[in-house]
Amino acid sequence: MTSIWIRRPLGVFTADTATPDASAAGGVVVQDGVIVELVPAGGQPRTAVDETFDASQHVLTPGLINTHHHFYQTLTRAWGPVADAPLFPWLQRLYPVWARLTPRAHELATTVALAELLLSGCTTAADHHYVFPKGLAEAIDIQVEVVRRLGMRATLTRGSMTLGEDDGGLPPQSVVQDLDTILADSQRLVESYHERGPGAQIQIAFAPCSPFSVTTDAMRESAVLAETLDVRLHTHLAETFDEEEFCRNRFGMRSVGWLTDRTWLGHGIHFDDDEVRRLGAAGTAIAHCPTSNMRLASGIARAVELEDAGSPIGLGVDGSASNDASSMIHEARQALYLQRLKYGADIPVVRALGWATRGSARALGRDDLGVLAVGQQADLVLWRLDELRFSGSHDPVAALLLCGADRADHVMIGGQWRVVDGAIPGLDLGALIAEHSAAARALVA
Ligand SMILES: [Zn+2]
Repeated sequence: MTSIWIRRPLGVFTADTATPDASAAGGVVVQDGVIVELVPAGGQPRTAVDETFDASQHVLTPGLINTHHHFYQTLTRAWGPVADAPLFPWLQRLYPVWARLTPRAHELATTVALAELLLSGCTTAADHHYVFPKGLAEAIDIQVEVVRRLGMRATLTRGSMTLGEDDGGLPPQSVVQDLDTILADSQRLVESYHERGPGAQIQIAFAPCSPFSVTTDAMRESAVLAETLDVRLHTHLAETFDEEEFCRNRFGMRSVGWLTDRTWLGHGIHFDDDEVRRLGAAGTAIAHCPTSNMRLASGIARAVELEDAGSPIGLGVDGSASNDASSMIHEARQALYLQRLKYGADIPVVRALGWATRGSARALGRDDLGVLAVGQQADLVLWRLDELRFSGSHDPVAALLLCGADRADHVMIGGQWRVVDGAIPGLDLGALIAEHSAAARALVA
């Protein structure tokens, strides 16, 4: 099998405390989809290499990992009626639009979201899909196909909404499903697609949408099934004060078998000191979504304290209707600045890069991804610093966030090049944008 030496990068960030950046200053050697050797500064690989990639103009990082998104929402980006709305009115205006989602529009939306992520250095993405109108029962199956086509990795969550307007919930009755249907489909998806072990490309998780759109039973039963099938659990939690009040009134409790290291929570903003401590002790992970939280003025997550308490912290771009971009490298910059605003300017740049890589991998339950170390999957990104925005910069790793890196130059996933010279081989972006834009117009027409 072919081995390739990513040779002597301009800068390197391993994301691994056990593997100082200097130990990979001479680059990494990849064989059979896995990192087999780190090369120190000025060194030569001990492994016989067939190919060399000259990385002297590139910064090398692990692939970035997105832990929270709603791919279908790329169809409702920057939509006038909700451009200036907070979460609850924003949702109420959008639910009826999303209820019109078709299989083809969903496929296009998924492709757009993943392509945008990939070009921003993302190699693994989680999606939270909870809209299953009539005719879209195979929403997750469609996503599996798109992920495979692009050669990325994904944790696709089977989302759900069971609590409609008639029962005091937020979503319209037309988009809620009964619990038996949801659980049966969840099990089918795990049996059809869920891969286990190192190098898994597709994983399935269960994701009741949020406490204000599902019943207590759905929360509890999803947790039981996740445990039985050994898959992960995800939901939105503590995103806004509105929600906080809704949950306390309705359930009188905030989790139903969910305080576990099987769970990663979207947003997780409004936790008190005791909750931070308990979440940390349980190892429950948080998908920090800084841009979305600023866009909807939801608040600032206590990411630094949660991480110090023991919670893995990952980053999420969140759905494209509340970001409205899907750039992982932008998100890492936003996370750095939002957390500095709360905790001070000495939050290190590399801590935010760590959330986007190692932290996100842990949030998704992956120990084979997120760092550059021997035995890890060869998911890596090469960034060029020859754009105007980087001119005059000194520390190449810090420059990625401080100067606002925008686009990956090369991306490797499992040893395969998925981005080459800033483009995705085999994907006609112009045609994709044209068809996706038409579908987006049709959805709100
Ligand atoms: Zn979300």
